[in-house]
Amino acid sequence: MTVTRNTKNVPYYQLGFGAFASLEGMVDARRSPESPGALFYVDHFFRGDGGCTLPLPVRGDDLVVFVNTEREPTVENIDLLSGEAEVFFGERLPCCVTGIGGGSVLDTAKAVANLLTNPGRAEDYQGWELVRHPAVYKIGVPTIAGTGAECSRTCVLTNHKRGLKLGMNSDFTVYDQILLDPELTRSVPRDQFFFTGVDTFMHCFESLRGSYRNVIVDRLSETAVDLCREVFLGRGDMQSDDKLEKMMVASYIGGMAAGNTGAVHPISAALSTVLHLPHGKANCYALSVLGDIYPEEHALFMEMKAENGIDLPPGICRYLPDERCEALYRASIIHEKPLTNALGPDYKTILNRDRLIALFRAM
Ligand code: NAD
Ligand code: ZN
Repeated sequence: MTVTRNTKNVPYYQLGFGAFASLEGMVDARRSPESPGALFYVDHFFRGDGGCTLPLPVRGDDLVVFVNTEREPTVENIDLLSGEAEVFFGERLPCCVTGIGGGSVLDTAKAVANLLTNPGRAEDYQGWELVRHPAVYKIGVPTIAGTGAECSRTCVLTNHKRGLKLGMNSDFTVYDQILLDPELTRSVPRDQFFFTGVDTFMHCFESLRGSYRNVIVDRLSETAVDLCREVFLGRGDMQSDDKLEKMMVASYIGGMAAGNTGAVHPISAALSTVLHLPHGKANCYALSVLGDIYPEEHALFMEMKAENGIDLPPGICRYLPDERCEALYRASIIHEKPLTNALGPDYKTILNRDRLIALFRAM
């Protein structure tokens, strides 16, 4: 067996219903005379008339920013947010950055924490090992489970100018502490719970079906896939208490294994960059037409979708003008690493232009 990459995981996690109550102690432990203020990014779903609907441990020197997640994070938006934080905190750094939300907010907090200690703009760090200095201390609190963003070493950002979705892949991007409280996910709408949840299934089976392998990642992926089966096909509702917790665990374990995606994610990324489809839903459309490449997982996914009454209205690309299909093709095929993982170095022949465009038309 080859030697694996030297791998960093989240050093501290706490799991369980009610774990959110620990946030106050965790944030306060970071406060110091040099850095008294904390920075919070919170999904706009939790914005109420009188501020945040969650009991946030906010003090006078803190900045709370509600993040609109109707659109997923872009490099431009990260530049704006980090600029705003720099103005607010002045010469000082915040004592910590806390992200409370789904993949979009968790990634926003990670990206801003990197930018606060590294000069330049977000797009300068899209790629691998480009972040030079350790980020501000980060706490991640997922409120929807599935992306694994709470424990991955990336923060996915859309760059419309360059036509790609790419994160700051770095050990500095990993959260220092995560709080996994399934109670926070209770309010997630059914469809959204499914679309985000099956992202774990996608990351893990794409890894298991690929050629870039690692024994530990394989075991983590298998466990996460099993948990997804239990959530989406096991007895009882997918949003029952025990399944809310199971989904959170699946996301965490799957997130540790994520990184070696296959054919689903490049096609999904194209749907997100060109048509602005959200990530989880875009994955589902991608896998719905990949039965030839992933027959077993395609069948399993269709079963999960039917079992939970999830609708994917067909025809999203059927009547698109040719140039939009061309853009979808280009935005998929640039993802060389995952496509090689799935299909080998000849991926451009296997998934040629005509075949890819036919797949989009069939969605
Ligand atoms: P999201 O964060 O975009 O949120 C989706 C929707 O769910 C939003 O409308 C949000 O308001 C709502 N929501 C969140 N929590 C809720 C709650 N408790 N109750 C009610 N509504 C709630 O969705 P996501 O699928 O978690 O994240 C997608 C993003 O994650 C994409 O940008 C994707 O590229 C990224 N991603 C990152 C990684 C990584 O490793 N960093 C991995 C996969 C995907
Ligand atoms: Zn994903």
